[in-house]
Amino acid sequence: MRRSFKFLLRPTSRQADALRAMLQDHCDLYNAGLEHRREAWRRKAAVRYAGQAEDLKHIRAEDPEGQGRWSCSSQQATLRRLDRAFVNFYRRVKAGKKPGYPRFRSPARFDSVEWPRDGDGCKWDDHRKGATGKLRLQGIGYVRVHQHRPIPHGSLIKTITVKREAKRWFVIVSCDNVPAKPLPPTDSEVGIDLGVVSFLTTSDGAQISNPRFGAALAPRLQELRRAWSRTSKGSRRHNELGRRIGVVLGKSRNQRRDHAHKTALWLVRYHDFIAHEDMPTERLSLRPRKRPDGNGGYLRNNAWVKRGLNKAIRDTGWTMFLSILTAKAESAGRTIIAVDYAYTSRTCPTCGHAARENRLTQADFACVACGYSGHADVIGAINVLRAGLVLREAAQAAEREAASAAESPTRQQLNAS
Ligand SMILES: [Zn+2]
Repeated sequence: MRRSFKFLLRPTSRQADALRAMLQDHCDLYNAGLEHRREAWRRKAAVRYAGQAEDLKHIRAEDPEGQGRWSCSSQQATLRRLDRAFVNFYRRVKAGKKPGYPRFRSPARFDSVEWPRDGDGCKWDDHRKGATGKLRLQGIGYVRVHQHRPIPHGSLIKTITVKREAKRWFVIVSCDNVPAKPLPPTDSEVGIDLGVVSFLTTSDGAQISNPRFGAALAPRLQELRRAWSRTSKGSRRHNELGRRIGVVLGKSRNQRRDHAHKTALWLVRYHDFIAHEDMPTERLSLRPRKRPDGNGGYLRNNAWVKRGLNKAIRDTGWTMFLSILTAKAESAGRTIIAVDYAYTSRTCPTCGHAARENRLTQADFACVACGYSGHADVIGAINVLRAGLVLREAAQAAEREAASAAESPTRQQLNAS
């Protein structure tokens, strides 16, 4: 199982200076590589990753106090990142889409450096008992790591990434072969329905209310958005306000992540089998109402700003929750299945009648065919569980068939003999 572990770094102030210099140099390298490719593009010449990696040797040799200080591998990884940007660019050109030429990166937004292999320019020193691990980085030295949990024994470290977030530094250790830690079986199966009013409803009727982290931050956010929509696009003020909106959204994202971890842990602890609907994107594609201006056109409608950002919050909230839930379920040896969203909230669980009219309001469900009624979210969750169990049944049947086919001779083989 592939998993990433993220830990806070505790660099000394000298090391923090060195980390900033390292980011700056990698950013410069990225931009220089981009400039080189732009030139070549104008001359219709081709520059590829291999050529730039070859040039890197000379860059390092000529600048031992600067670029030469850092790991060659992390620099190569940065050039590969540039290469990926170009591969995507060429693909978009080929597909006839609006290409969007790769852009120069501002040092303020160049936030991470990756080492493709442990032990090559970086060394992870896992600490199993104490809370402090160590990370050795070429050109920086041993940096203390606030390791709030050990990396499970037997995990294979693949890549190491150092990342700056606001004023803090983190290391992300990406591992393969992370062993699962199975939880004891509970013989319980559950379906979940994700919503806006209630964050989550289970098929046994439990509800997790939406913590509305956004609500506490909403007045500030609204104020910023209002100012933002009044400034002109591309202006310094506009960019600055955009950045501040990002900070507020980041804060609510962290709270959401914490909440998602707790909720996922609770589900995984008590259920062997979890069915969830696939990302309910249909519900997100609602458009803001248009306001005709009386001359056949439409007034500017800033609803999209608000709605767009609200959508972003909900959207990432659900995606984040489902990815955390999936990782936790796999790690605990639980089965997790995604089912199609279609009609789960409109279908009657007793008679199977599916109709828009079954759903009276946001909260109430009453079947127009058989009269069965209940809470709409719970019914949605029950339908999700049923659909999940059907999928599991089909998967198990296919497995049995494959197993028996492998054991016993096939009909053709019998006919032949
Ligand atoms: Zn019914």
